[in-house]
Amino acid sequence: MYVQEKTIKNIICDILKRKDLKIEFTCKTNSSIYLTHYTDSNEIIQRSEIDRFVISIRTETGETIFPYMTPTMTGVFKQYNFKLFSILHEVGHYKTFKGISYTAMTKKRDALYARVNSEGAHAEIHRLYRQTTPERRADKWAMNWILKHPKKAREYSNQLNRATY
Ligand SMILES: [Zn+2]
Repeated sequence: MYVQEKTIKNIICDILKRKDLKIEFTCKTNSSIYLTHYTDSNEIIQRSEIDRFVISIRTETGETIFPYMTPTMTGVFKQYNFKLFSILHEVGHYKTFKGISYTAMTKKRDALYARVNSEGAHAEIHRLYRQTTPERRADKWAMNWILKHPKKAREYSNQLNRATY
């Protein structure tokens, strides 16, 4: 496991105080959590427990995210390594998913991203996506976590700076 992956895993386990989490890494742009899986007959089932975290290890700057948040939120997140936002946002999904149908959400998201392909309306789609209930909740959870744990946030961000190359 690379330094960056190890660092990210340690941070997530530390925030959630759990050691048994399944965390995978991807070179794709987006990080995600898995709460759904498919049965043999291709039926989608939503779990009540998280299945796994998938965290992007690509170097990102938040261009498709930060311009579509409130200036307050952007101001908070921009003070730290981008990966910290990424991690906290996914943990935020995990902490706030109750009452949300991720099956419905996945369909909505796919429909939005299909529009990016057909209309190329990137800015509008990114804005709409950020305003969906799960994204708003996850962003808010992430920001509140930072406001509550400024020392930890700085410490994690420094660790991520050192591990990002
Ligand atoms: Zn999200």
